[in-house]
Amino acid sequence: MGCTAADLVTAIRAVADTVAEHRVELIQLDRAIGDGDHGENLDRGFKAVLTALDAATPDSPAAVLKTVATTLISKVGGAAGPLYGTAFLRASTAVKDRGELEAADVVEALTAALGGVVARGKAELGDKTMVDALDPAVKAATGDSVAAVLSAAADAAEAGAEATVPLVARKGRASYLGERSAGHMDPGARSTMLLLRAFAEVAAR
Ligand code: ADP
Ligand code: MG
Ligand code: MG
Repeated sequence: MGCTAADLVTAIRAVADTVAEHRVELIQLDRAIGDGDHGENLDRGFKAVLTALDAATPDSPAAVLKTVATTLISKVGGAAGPLYGTAFLRASTAVKDRGELEAADVVEALTAALGGVVARGKAELGDKTMVDALDPAVKAATGDSVAAVLSAAADAAEAGAEATVPLVARKGRASYLGERSAGHMDPGARSTMLLLRAFAEVAAR
């Protein structure tokens, strides 16, 4: 059983709820090594996404992902807005023409999303960014069902986010702190894990 446009809208609503629930936590993580706006940026962005989805009701998974992308790009400032926007845009392109997403489509979408983040932000593994959650997630994203793929991806993203704690940031605002960025989890890696976990939980229902 594949993931329809309506299923994907349900998942995006769950993502928006998760982001709202973790808004303060993401703000605090970003306050430690950045400018403290990550939770606010994402919460505002995903609230705008919900408004856009209510207004349009996209009729394919690709169209849902594209609505998310264009809304995040236009409504969210900072580093994460364009990066997440690019990720969703590449994912949309990857699943163009599919009426329902199967496990292999989700793997392709995640792979494309990572490619977009790396193309846009030029971060490498170990730079203490969202790539440190998304790259292991893509590598782990295998399974016979959408739920299995997303669960494996979310688990790997969680471990990847935890592993950013001791790292010294080499990209983004946190890199201005140099060695002082060590000892804190990267907020973007944490939010990437939260997004993937929300997708996985909806797929498992
Ligand atoms: P800003 O730093 O502009 O305030 P946010 O606080 O919303 O933007 O997002 C910060 C997060 O963006 C970081 O925690 C990191 O995960 C991610 N990030 C920053 N620069 C890059 C980059 N070049 N590549 C990948 N991710 C990045
Ligand atoms: Mg910030
Ligand atoms: Mg900022």
